[in-house]
Amino acid sequence: MKGVIDNLLDLLFPPKCVFCGKLLDLQEEGLCAACRRDLPWLEGAAAEQVLGGGFLCVSPLRYRGSVRDSLRRYKFQGCRGYHRAYGPLLAHCIQVHLEGQYDLITWAPLSARRKRERGYDQAYLLASAAAGVLGTKAVPLLRKVKHTAAQSGLEEDAQRRSNVQGVYAAFNPAAAAGKRILLVDDIVTTGSTLVSCAKVLQEAGAVGVACAALARAR
Ligand SMILES: [Zn+2]
Repeated sequence: MKGVIDNLLDLLFPPKCVFCGKLLDLQEEGLCAACRRDLPWLEGAAAEQVLGGGFLCVSPLRYRGSVRDSLRRYKFQGCRGYHRAYGPLLAHCIQVHLEGQYDLITWAPLSARRKRERGYDQAYLLASAAAGVLGTKAVPLLRKVKHTAAQSGLEEDAQRRSNVQGVYAAFNPAAAAGKRILLVDDIVTTGSTLVSCAKVLQEAGAVGVACAALARAR
């Protein structure tokens, strides 16, 4: 239920669909009925892909059209509040494909420098929102120890892979040891970021790692 402040904010800034920008009706939350129907959803086996290293990754949406535009606003134009709309979509996908297959939820973090520049870590906000829907909390297990060029600016796969080697480290290995971990990111393209994070978690003693990304680029 919404509090007084939320209702006041809704009056001042009427909620809009995070994908198409349409003003939402009272019964619509986060996204409009048309987007709920027409977005490029991935369903059944299409939502699952196996990344390098054999890690499973599930995604509810394809990264194209209004999904891509929305995620760009979320990452690069300060629309941090979008995680509230994204969280339930990712949580539903996790429930359908990975129910009972993980003990902890974590995320692929930004470097301290990038987080300072952006003001927020979009993967953390997304992981937290999805975890909240799933009745748990996102736990920090990784650190980005090396600042890298933005992945979206690197076109070559080989360049993307070498861009993430040695970039992540375990933040709290004792918390990862013996656990099955669900690793969240906003977008999966080549999977190189998720795979390098998953390998670090394995080295820290995780007994399994599965991944979930809101949108899949390939
Ligand atoms: Zn819409």
